[in-house]
Amino acid sequence: MHSFTQYTPTRIVFGKETEKQTGQLAKQCGASRVFVVYGGGSVVRSGLLDRVTASLEEAGLTYKALGGVKPNPRLSFARQAVEMSKEFGSDFVLAVGGGSVIDTAKAVAHGTANPDTDIWDFWSRKKTVEKSMPVGVVLTLAAAGSETSDSAVLTNEETQIKRGLSTDFNRPAFAVMNPELTYTLPKYQVGCGIVDIMMHTLDRYFTPTENNELTDEIAEGLLRTVIRNGAAAIKDSHDYNAMSEIMWAGSLSHNGLTGLGAEKDFAVHQLGHELSAKFDIAHGASLSAVWGAWAQYVYQEKPQRFVQYAERVWGIEEKDCSKAAEEAIKKTVAYFASLDMPTCFSEAEEIGIKTEEELKKMADGCSYGGTRSIGSFKVCDKDDIFEIYKLANK
Ligand code: NAP
Ligand code: FE
Repeated sequence: MHSFTQYTPTRIVFGKETEKQTGQLAKQCGASRVFVVYGGGSVVRSGLLDRVTASLEEAGLTYKALGGVKPNPRLSFARQAVEMSKEFGSDFVLAVGGGSVIDTAKAVAHGTANPDTDIWDFWSRKKTVEKSMPVGVVLTLAAAGSETSDSAVLTNEETQIKRGLSTDFNRPAFAVMNPELTYTLPKYQVGCGIVDIMMHTLDRYFTPTENNELTDEIAEGLLRTVIRNGAAAIKDSHDYNAMSEIMWAGSLSHNGLTGLGAEKDFAVHQLGHELSAKFDIAHGASLSAVWGAWAQYVYQEKPQRFVQYAERVWGIEEKDCSKAAEEAIKKTVAYFASLDMPTCFSEAEEIGIKTEEELKKMADGCSYGGTRSIGSFKVCDKDDIFEIYKLANK
């Protein structure tokens, strides 16, 4: 087992009607002026925003609300939000929504606490975040895990670069998680969420590091739970137990727990970010569209790892290593298909079939012009990325 630090400071408040506690929770964090961030309107239509702001008022807090965060959140919007937050003099940022809203809220917190820095300097690694403001979350979508993660992803629409920033300053102070708030989700978003949750664990599970017994057991248990409950949730988004299991799994899948003591891979996330940056495809769909191709391309690096995955997650009893691995890949891809998620480019209408020239450009973008490799299970350079995109291009 590698040495590790685990830091998960987020207070989780889970269950029905927990959003009523938002004001008190913010107050306990020392908030007095709360900058509330939300998305395209789902929380207005559901009445959640009103309930949350009423709770802030009850706690005696002043707030200003800004809506309009788009999926694959844009840098330009985050910059505007920072300016408004600075003008308002906020000392706390509250995200009411899914991953895009939470990541924007994290950017607002960094930008407000560092008024002389352009936030993209943090995302482009020109500067390191040394201080920020606390962020609270009222979660409406089980997917990104941003409610506990150390990460925030923004898209710079000028350069078409989608990039994540990892820092412990991204860890929210609290997350209110009421599974009932996810009942209004379109089926497509439920599917995207399930894929993303699985992928946060799979991107940690397929690692070159020696296996860690407890970490593996946690990862495999989480995957089995999500697979089982995902099938129920996709049939009925009002299934409280299924939505609860998925919501909790979403947080655990990306707070570091399922990869403790092991090297991360995250190549599939990088492959997907390039697709979202270029085609504005939903994050979960970008991942399901490439995972099968990635797995096919890399599994011979350490087939035994795929055999363990086959046995313990899918119950595949096959002695032949390659056959077991291939069967597990097939089952995973079929599961994504059962959620109506794309499993190759032609199944994602935003992407479609691409020419080899276009695929080369994508490989160039994903490898930052050939200057970086991605992944660790198999380290993939620009040529490998091109081959994976070619495999997915069907
Ligand atoms: P999202 O982009 O936040 O939301 C997707 C859509 O779902 C939006 O149109 C939103 O509508 C809608 N929605 C959300 N909650 C709803 C509800 N309860 N009822 C009805 N509609 C609802 O989705 P996400 O998958 O959570 O986040 C994706 C982003 O997170 C991507 O940019 C991805 O790269 C990033 N990400 C971040 C991390 C991290 O650790 N920070 C990890 C993985 C992915 P409204 O806008 O109208 O609310
Ligand atoms: Fe993700």
